[in-house]
This record gives sequence, structure tokens and C-alpha cells, in this order.
Amino acid sequence: MPELPEVETVRRGLNQLTLGRKITGGEVLLPRTLAHPFSLVEFDRGIAARAIKCWNRRGKYLLATLDNGSTLAVHLRMTGQLLWVNADTPLAPHTRLRFYFEGAKELRFIDTRTFGKIWWIPAEVAPERVITALQTLGPEPLGHDFTPEAFYSLCRRSRRPIKTFLLDQTVVAGIGNIYADEALFKSGIDPRTLANELTIAQTKNLTNAIIYVLGEAIDRGGTSFSDFLHVTGMNGNYGAVAWVYGRTGEECRVCGTAIDRVKLGGRSSHFCPKCQG
Ligand SMILES: [Zn+2]
Repeated sequence: MPELPEVETVRRGLNQLTLGRKITGGEVLLPRTLAHPFSLVEFDRGIAARAIKCWNRRGKYLLATLDNGSTLAVHLRMTGQLLWVNADTPLAPHTRLRFYFEGAKELRFIDTRTFGKIWWIPAEVAPERVITALQTLGPEPLGHDFTPEAFYSLCRRSRRPIKTFLLDQTVVAGIGNIYADEALFKSGIDPRTLANELTIAQTKNLTNAIIYVLGEAIDRGGTSFSDFLHVTGMNGNYGAVAWVYGRTGEECRVCGTAIDRVKLGGRSSHFCPKCQG
């Protein structure tokens, strides 16, 4: 599942490829992909003849501002991908929605598992009124609000395992299974540790580790985009350099101990029993 670095990589690609381009219309191939508006006619009328001003990101949401102040939002969820192609390119399987652009270009949304969502929200409506999850989203981990002090006071109030706590998008935005495991390894914290049992020093280490692993993953995302804004759950070559994620039974890159795995909150958590003891 794409996490913050992957979505950020896609955002940067969209800004390179689509900025200032005018949308001429759209086609919804799978109606449930379009979360808002309900009416396909209203959607088509909303986006037609509008140019993309910029793409922003909040957590794992991609938010484009159009030139009349309306918003186009995309959540890739499990398997969503965006493809920037010439209009005569044959449709890939699982194409759910197409945006037509002037200059015979298209932005296509492809999604095998069909959990991905797209919204168009008129200028007079605040996006968080429609995408209500935006109202409760925690701070951006790479933003100024995400400080060790603020994070520590949140941890004090939770008795959930820290791994589960990190996946809660109301605590901090954009972190998923991969980077939660990696940040916990980097900070030497056992994923089963209860959030309110972390010391001030540990929460400080964890805050720094989160910022570090996300920043590093974004750097690895690369800056050159051909046409495919690749997002398949793992960014670039990150899988090959992961400290613990997806490495059950393999040797820890620091101490050589076999990487272990436990289920927490229904999710696999990978960790080194020695480095995170
Ligand atoms: Zn180790």
C-alpha cells in the first residue's frame, strides 16, 4: 500500500507532468471510484476546461487545486496508480477513470483492488467538508507541527502498542506498515511496547527516525518520470534496502540476528529481537 513517500513521489511527478495543463473532460469507467460528486454529469461539467494549478499532499491524499479554486482529490488506497499517457495509448486492464487533457494527453487511474477514490469538490465547498477524514488527520510528519514534545504527549494518552499507534492516521499522517517498522528499528524500540510506556528519550528518537526514514524514502523515489507514476506499495528500490520490513528470518543488517515477525492490530510487524530488545 502506498505510504507518504510513495504518494509524495507521485505528487512531484504530477506537478512535473500536468501543471498548467487544461482538462477537457473525463470518463468514469467504474462509478464507485468517483466518491464525489454523485452525478457524472456534474463531475464532467466541474472538471471540463479547468487547468491544474498545483498538486498538494495531505497524508496519503493528493489534492489538486484547479484554476477556478475547485479541488480534485485522489486517494490511491491499496493498488491505485496514475498513468500519464498519449490519448491513443490502449487502455490498461483495471482502468477506472480517465481525465482527458488538451494536447491529446490523458491521466488514467488504474486500480485492481478498486478501493481507490477520486473526488471533485467545487470552490465554494471546503474539501474537508466532503473528505471528512481530512478533519481528523494528524500532523504531517515532515511538517513543523510534528515535534518530539507533541508526539510524547500523544503517546502518554494511549495504551496501544506503539506500532499500532503509529498506523493511526489521526496520530500522524501518512505512515503505514513499511515505514512504521523501519522507524521503530531505527529507534531501537520493540513494536509491542505500549505507547504510554515510552520514555521522553525514546519518543525523541522515534520522532527523528520517522522523519529520517520518510525523507530517505522520498529521496529514493527519484525525480525523473517518464509516463508511469509508479506506485505498487514499495517506492523505487526501497525494498532492497529495508532494515526489517519484509525480511522475516533474514539476518539483521546491524547485529546478524534473525528478523522476527509478530502480528499487531492485524498487521505484520518486522523487528530485530536484539536491536529492539
Ligand atoms: Zn539487530
